[in-house]
Amino acid sequence: MEKVDITIIGAGVVGLAIAAEIARPDLSVFILEKNHAHGGGISSRNSEVIHGGMYNPPDSLKASLCVEGNRMLYEIAAKNHIPHKRTGKLIVAVSREEDDDIERLYSNGRQNGVPALELITQKQVSDMEPNVQAHAALYSPDTGIISVHDLMNYFLASAQNKKAQMVCNTNVTGIEKEAGHYRIYSQNTKGESFEFSSAVVINAAGLESDTIANMAGGNYQLHYCKGDYCSISGVKPGIVQRLIYPVPARKHTGLGVHLTMDLNGRYKLGPDTTYIERKEDYHVEPEKADLFFQSTNKFLPFLKQENIHPDMAGIRPKLQGPDDDFCDFVIREDAPGFINLVGIESPGMTASPAIARYVRKML
Ligand SMILES: Cc1cc2nc3c(=O)[nH]c(=O)nc-3n(C[C@H](O)[C@H](O)[C@H](O)COP(=O)(O)OP(=O)(O)OC[C@H]3O[C@@H](n4cnc5c(N)ncnc54)[C@H](O)[C@@H]3O)c2cc1C
Repeated sequence: MEKVDITIIGAGVVGLAIAAEIARPDLSVFILEKNHAHGGGISSRNSEVIHGGMYNPPDSLKASLCVEGNRMLYEIAAKNHIPHKRTGKLIVAVSREEDDDIERLYSNGRQNGVPALELITQKQVSDMEPNVQAHAALYSPDTGIISVHDLMNYFLASAQNKKAQMVCNTNVTGIEKEAGHYRIYSQNTKGESFEFSSAVVINAAGLESDTIANMAGGNYQLHYCKGDYCSISGVKPGIVQRLIYPVPARKHTGLGVHLTMDLNGRYKLGPDTTYIERKEDYHVEPEKADLFFQSTNKFLPFLKQENIHPDMAGIRPKLQGPDDDFCDFVIREDAPGFINLVGIESPGMTASPAIARYVRKML
């Protein structure tokens, strides 16, 4: 039976970042991916926002790895010509009552070590964004956007340059612990099975990371939480320059429906949050256009209902159930040589290089 040093399950942004970080010519590192190519999972259905790190509680991995990942991503992107833009972002308060909320986010962000955050007045908001309505705002200059596909291609190439190998169309179906290694069972798209052994296993299987962890004795349960997007047409290009977010609900499962743009300047609204049954359903209901209009109209008054169209969706792998409190990323060696990454929802793309560094230190 073939023996390898390290197996990474999942070729999304997290698995690929880890591969790029740990690969070495003298190690056999394999990345197994069930799809025909890398990056077709959660990583291909997100907002591509380089988050600042002000939302999550101090001392959480979500906060610390986001702040570190933000800095690392800008460095990686600049050095390797990965398309990105430091757009900046405003979290807007639309009433005096929301002032307290942005102050709380400001102080949370400061505790998390987010640099250059600033509370700004109505006048400053309208100077920066004349088409946005707000009573006050929290300004994060270091929030931005990046091409996640180019980022993943970079991580993959960097891993392959150091002799890591990606094997696609390979679905991991079982794992058994044996003396000093793990036996991994898998199946290809023709239904053919094969097995090999690996000294170390890193589970970065996104929406299936609980299933993989549980194959090796874990006890995780992910909740699928869908985020729908709407595209925007018929507005003046450049009408808004920064990403515009509302104040999130106190016990939030998402950040509130917000306005982002891609690197071509195309605007979109979303994602919202809806817990769904465990199925990869990416259909967006037509009524979302109206709901998104209602929820953004107070701070984006230039948007009319006819500008908003149902578009794509993504699914978050949440450890936090609908009525639960905050749950952090799980990045843990649950059994010797078996590292699980479970619940890697947002800001997982931003955090990916910092997650990779964190995993390398665990090895
Ligand atoms: C709607 C939405 C918006 C988001 N926006 C942002 C954002 O703006 N900024 C940000 O930082 N983060 C954002 N995120 C979070 C970010 O997208 C994720 O944290 C990140 O993409 C997770 O990457 P991953 O590699 O863990 O998962 P994935 O990209 O899903 O990769 C896991 C891979 O594992 C493979 N796999 C699964 N099971 C098996 C198996 N049995 N055998 C082999 N392979 C398997 C899958 O096919 C998949 O390719 C968002 C997420 C969502 C859902």
